Amino acid sequence: MLKLIGPITQLLTLDKLPLKGSLKDEQLEILENAGILMEDEKILEVSNYPDLLAKAKALHAEVIELKGDFVALPSWIDCHTHICFGGTRAQDFAMRNAGKSYLEIAEAGGGIWDTVTQTRKLSQEELAERTIKNANRHLGEGVTTIEVKSGYGLTVAEELKMLRAIREANSETKADLISTCLAAHMKPKDFEGSEEEYLHEISEQLFPILKSENLTNRIDSFIEQSAFSPQEIESYYQKAIDLGFDLTVHADQFTTGGSEVAIKFSAKSADHLEASTAREIALLAKSDTVAVALPGASIGLGCDFTPARKILDQGGSLAIGSDWNPGSAPMGDLITQASILATFEKLSTAEVLSALTFRAAAALGLEDRGKLKAGLLADFNLYPTADFREILYQQGKLKPEQVWKKGNKI
Ligand SMILES: [Zn+2]
Repeated sequence: MLKLIGPITQLLTLDKLPLKGSLKDEQLEILENAGILMEDEKILEVSNYPDLLAKAKALHAEVIELKGDFVALPSWIDCHTHICFGGTRAQDFAMRNAGKSYLEIAEAGGGIWDTVTQTRKLSQEELAERTIKNANRHLGEGVTTIEVKSGYGLTVAEELKMLRAIREANSETKADLISTCLAAHMKPKDFEGSEEEYLHEISEQLFPILKSENLTNRIDSFIEQSAFSPQEIESYYQKAIDLGFDLTVHADQFTTGGSEVAIKFSAKSADHLEASTAREIALLAKSDTVAVALPGASIGLGCDFTPARKILDQGGSLAIGSDWNPGSAPMGDLITQASILATFEKLSTAEVLSALTFRAAAALGLEDRGKLKAGLLADFNLYPTADFREILYQQGKLKPEQVWKKGNKI
């Protein structure tokens, strides 16, 4: 099925840009009076609208003619979320803002463990429903690929329930959900044994099922003083690599250590990095691991932002994720958060748009999306404006008028 859409006032291809390093807005390829010719779920050609219109007529393609000004860009990719969860942590948020300590919040029944307890109470179907609802909210804002982590189950059975719920949700939403196993989020309070013993049990019992049921090909962990040490995760990751999993890490959020593990094991991404120093930034910049900034967590916790400017200036690759989760990042508004990060870190529009598209795709190991070019998925957003800079300028308030996923309007 052939379809042409246009004319588009400005079409940003995000093509011909490097995966790593700083970017200037002048490097953006912008086609004016453009069109997108699609065949089924893929882009056949992106070009000048009058030329494509003649071609479309000759090929008897369906023509979807736009009236008014539009900016087209690849649809957004959120490469880091925890949108499969039960309960709420509104109490934690209020207590934290009222000056209560991490320990006081934990003693009042808050923290990750609270979400684990709430998530375990839900059935797979209920969890899938909640995941679909969150995914569809993202989809309406133009986020058509969403990474979703487990990590609130923390037993073999409960992690499986979460990952099966994410798979069920993926079949029900038009967004693509990319699942990740985060069983190494923390050692569950009801596990009788050491951190090593917990990780051993997960890798021995859960990893083979993830493979046999094809539930995910990504393994994540939380390397932090309150969670797991770099040494503990290294042997866990070695087992994951031996089974062919891709890796990602919650790294350097409060203390360093995680990003070095990410680099050592060639993880696809190292996420958070708020605490990274010049040493970690230099190592990351030299590696092929994508640094993922999560401004939603900085906004939710009132912490420093990821040193995104320094990472880019040193030559690193930077993606931006929402970290949407009930504890530290409840907002879940990727474009608002990216716009705020840009003002604090002084990121160019080209750097932010890249961080939300092809660089985010690289963080997920996906090569079929994130740019508007022939052969890639026809995933794009149409914003009702004549100037692409309006999108970040309006700090998330300008919404796409049309969201297209795999050649179909949502
Ligand atoms: Zn996270």
